Amino acid sequence: MHIGNYLGALKNWVRMIDQYDCIFCIVDYHAITIEYNPADMQRRILNAAAVNIAAGLDPERCIIFVQSYVPEHTELAWILNTVTPMGHLERMTQFKDKSKQHRENINAGLFTYPVLQAADILLYHGEAVPVGEDQVQHIELAREIARKFNMRYGETFPDPVEVLSDAPRIMGLDGKTKMSKSLGNYISLVETPESIWKKLSTAVTDENRKRRTDPGNPDICNLFTLHKYFSRKEQIDRINTVCRTAEIGCIECKKILSDNIVEALAPIRMRYEQLISDPDYLADILHAGAKKCRDIAVNTMTDVKKKMGLR
Ligand code: SF4
Repeated sequence: MHIGNYLGALKNWVRMIDQYDCIFCIVDYHAITIEYNPADMQRRILNAAAVNIAAGLDPERCIIFVQSYVPEHTELAWILNTVTPMGHLERMTQFKDKSKQHRENINAGLFTYPVLQAADILLYHGEAVPVGEDQVQHIELAREIARKFNMRYGETFPDPVEVLSDAPRIMGLDGKTKMSKSLGNYISLVETPESIWKKLSTAVTDENRKRRTDPGNPDICNLFTLHKYFSRKEQIDRINTVCRTAEIGCIECKKILSDNIVEALAPIRMRYEQLISDPDYLADILHAGAKKCRDIAVNTMTDVKKKMGLR
């Protein structure tokens, strides 16, 4: 989880806890559709739980669990496969992108990934699904799958609808591509203060500003965008003026941003350190979440199977 995920998605999820009965799923079955190290999987699952809880997904107010703990996800996915046209899956742009990225491992799981995603949603009669723009096509497909099932077997699933965050795409520290862990252009939510400063000190600013005495343009500086999220209004207004008149250098400007990011992330990092040092507590949260989900999932599958003549 990096600050781009936090601003673009996680803050939105935390707000949604007040509006909906929320279920958050750590999708390990999706993760195995690309090459991975089995010896590292449990650490990654606990880490995902710790970061998300630390950043605001309070397990007292929402459900958080691991996908593979609830076997009904894959059971429903198989059934939904039988109402999903191949042509629809072939049109998924994310499958095309991932196939290019993982040419040596284009497996059937990668192809039917959106069907499992539809099962993740429909199993709980999910209605509002917070996603980024790159996932909207998958939610549209989930909606279509729900309708096809309903038409064939009778009204069962509601139409799931995507909920887009109002935060814009956060660019990486290279200023060129979206902030991404795989591209290494990110600041993690649990990054140390030293590392935050080290990364910001080499981050790309207004590339036309070659010397300290050159005026800069905050409108095209990626770090100014980050100031808008992490700095105080008076700091943002000042930088917006003094950058253009070269009264502030990029190093000083980056220092202000670094201090503000460190301050904003400090409580998240502290909570994360507590959680990750107590794996039993994290495991209890995930198993308790899975138990609540199974109660819902078993009911859904009983209804689905009855309607399909399988019970
Ligand atoms: Fe960007 Fe700040 Fe440098 Fe202006 S002073 S170009 S806003 S880093």
